[in-house]
Amino acid sequence: MAEHHGHDHHPEPPSAVEARARALESLLIEKNLVTADAIDRIVEAYESDIGPLNGARVVARAWVDPEFKRRLLADGTAAIRELGISGLRGEHLVVVENRPGVHNVIVCTLCSCYPWAVLGLPPAWYKSAAYRSRMVINPREVLAEFGLHLDEGTRVEVWDSSAETRYMVLPERPPGTEHLSEEELAALVTRDAMVGVARVEVPART
Ligand code: FE
Repeated sequence: MAEHHGHDHHPEPPSAVEARARALESLLIEKNLVTADAIDRIVEAYESDIGPLNGARVVARAWVDPEFKRRLLADGTAAIRELGISGLRGEHLVVVENRPGVHNVIVCTLCSCYPWAVLGLPPAWYKSAAYRSRMVINPREVLAEFGLHLDEGTRVEVWDSSAETRYMVLPERPPGTEHLSEEELAALVTRDAMVGVARVEVPART
């Protein structure tokens, strides 16, 4: 946790919640109530399903409802509350829209501030020193390493999260999805697309 020293913008969940979670985990394992494996699966579920699912619902709604999208871009915190999503602790959610010629990506250069109300827990790479520093210095190169190649004409905007402001990317709706329902659209939206390190793709039909 040494990386958290030196700046005080983080009197926030990680330390306290993490400590309690660890204590609970040890207790449960000690009492043979649950295996470490089971806990890992729960955490994995939170990382990859439960959290990002909220964000995916927000994105899909914005794609099908222009008025909601307008409100979302104007005040993310208020708009996600319309969908029953809260859990923000005094910080604001700012939603930034990808569009032709502009690609957005989020980072926290100081530590690991993340819009967890909509995206769940941050992936390990988001917290890595390499991601945090390199995404600011050379975002295009880092995005290419994620497999996202942007053309020269596309401007990359990097949003540095803080304890006060969390960002989420509103990805572009992929072409050929006009026939999909809001629920089907939500199923296409990935965590990585909402961090800004991927596009939303339509899987090839089987
Ligand atoms: Fe942070």
